[in-house]
Amino acid sequence: MFFKSAKINEFRLWGLMFTMIGMGLMIFGTAGIVLWGETGKIFAAVFMVIGMIAMLVSVGVYFWAGMLSTSARIVPCPECNKATKMLGTTDRCMFCRTKLTFDPKQATEPTEA
Ligand SMILES: [Zn+2]
Repeated sequence: MFFKSAKINEFRLWGLMFTMIGMGLMIFGTAGIVLWGETGKIFAAVFMVIGMIAMLVSVGVYFWAGMLSTSARIVPCPECNKATKMLGTTDRCMFCRTKLTFDPKQATEPTEA
């Protein structure tokens, strides 16, 4: 939980970030060929591999998010009344980011921000 949003949204964000990093590294590596010729090719190859790994990680993250969303429970949000997906016992609403929980011990008064 790094971005204080719903877990499914967060997984998608991480997937997107890895895709961007992977693409960025591959473009950066390709620039090496243009800048340094022969030595740049080794540089490019290294960045291509790292970029490919980042892309594969992003595919993995997307796949994992897809798997998790099939097991997610759809509940109506008490704050905005929209149907949101919950992962685990505690998650945030996908729309208004209200903390939601199935655990009565963690439940607080509705006044909590
Ligand atoms: Zn909500």
